[in-house]
Amino acid sequence: MAACTNNVELGFVEKSPPWRLLSQFFPSKVGGKPAWLNLKEVPKSKNLFCPNCNKTMTFLLQIYCPPPTGDEDDATAEATAQSTCFHRTLYVFCCREATCHQTSNSEDQKSPFAIFRCQLERRNDFYSYEPPDEDSQVPEKDIISPKQFDVLLCDVCGCNAGDRKCGKCQKAVYCCKDHQVMDWKIGHKAKCGKEFGLHDATPPANNKFLFPEFELVTEPESEEYAAQEAEENIEKGSSNEDLRLVGAGLVQTAVELENGYMSTKDLDRMARKETDDDVQFMNFKKRISHDPDQVLRYQKGGRPLFVSANDQPSEKDIVPCSCGAKRQFEFQIMPQLLTHLEVDSLDASIDWGTLLIYTCSKSCTEGPPYHPEFLWKQDYHNSSIS
Ligand SMILES: [Zn+2]
Ligand SMILES: [Zn+2]
Ligand SMILES: [Zn+2]
Ligand SMILES: [Zn+2]
Repeated sequence: MAACTNNVELGFVEKSPPWRLLSQFFPSKVGGKPAWLNLKEVPKSKNLFCPNCNKTMTFLLQIYCPPPTGDEDDATAEATAQSTCFHRTLYVFCCREATCHQTSNSEDQKSPFAIFRCQLERRNDFYSYEPPDEDSQVPEKDIISPKQFDVLLCDVCGCNAGDRKCGKCQKAVYCCKDHQVMDWKIGHKAKCGKEFGLHDATPPANNKFLFPEFELVTEPESEEYAAQEAEENIEKGSSNEDLRLVGAGLVQTAVELENGYMSTKDLDRMARKETDDDVQFMNFKKRISHDPDQVLRYQKGGRPLFVSANDQPSEKDIVPCSCGAKRQFEFQIMPQLLTHLEVDSLDASIDWGTLLIYTCSKSCTEGPPYHPEFLWKQDYHNSSIS
């Protein structure tokens, strides 16, 4: 992830050798297990329980998005090295139960998502001061992992397991009973009690709890598209108005037919809302049609691309950070990501129009090293789908 810029950075998924997605390469990635930045204070599963079903949430994605470093004269370099925010990674988790995703934002206690922000100084307990060599694979002995800091990760989900181990072999590690049962079925049963090395846990291919793993690569969106959109919106000012008049005209007819069950004003308002929503949805589709594979849009402090005119968060909906500072928009997850997660089922599945992530505008260091942040889900409005 490039440092924060004024333009929109688009995220795409790509297959990548697994070693490139290790913590020491500061990866941006989708699926698999999280690559923790702070290796000592990894969140425990109780911080990842879904408030609806009480199951541990699954890692969805992380993006590495440090603040810009500026020109590297000596004074700036030293200031940057001492800044509490040289490395910065954002994490998103979500519940895997489709029924937990039927909630709306108004029930914010029941969000099936969890967001964390983690930051480190350039001089820290875990990583070298110099950036890693991204072209050479690290030998197994040089892999930096939470194990070196006495943190055991769950063999199934990769979160902090505390000290819960398989009672029989004392080797396999789990964050919760559910994951122990899951692992027993998918492979541990055959291995329990036999010798196995550190990296010889159940093969990830059998692990249906995790999402498929990809690297998340970014590219700037062409500035032209934003400029085009602004221009068209000015031109379209009148045509939106035309659409509204058509809507109002239909309403008039409806009123005559129904002999006034609703006031003209109410119906007019309804028609306008639907028209605005169609326009917003067309805008959304048009903007992403230039790069249809984008799974993420990053623009710290920028404006999200809304999927609908309905259910946009107002300023008071965005809960401030626990430090008191406002939260600002940082990135959004696009519906295209769903096609890579293999979550489709016949009756119900995890679904969203877009997920908007807001973070502390001060990138504060208050609270836990994995600091909770805020997510707003926007669904497609019914009229958009038809
Ligand atoms: Zn749930
Ligand atoms: Zn687990
Ligand atoms: Zn065992
Ligand atoms: Zn804050």
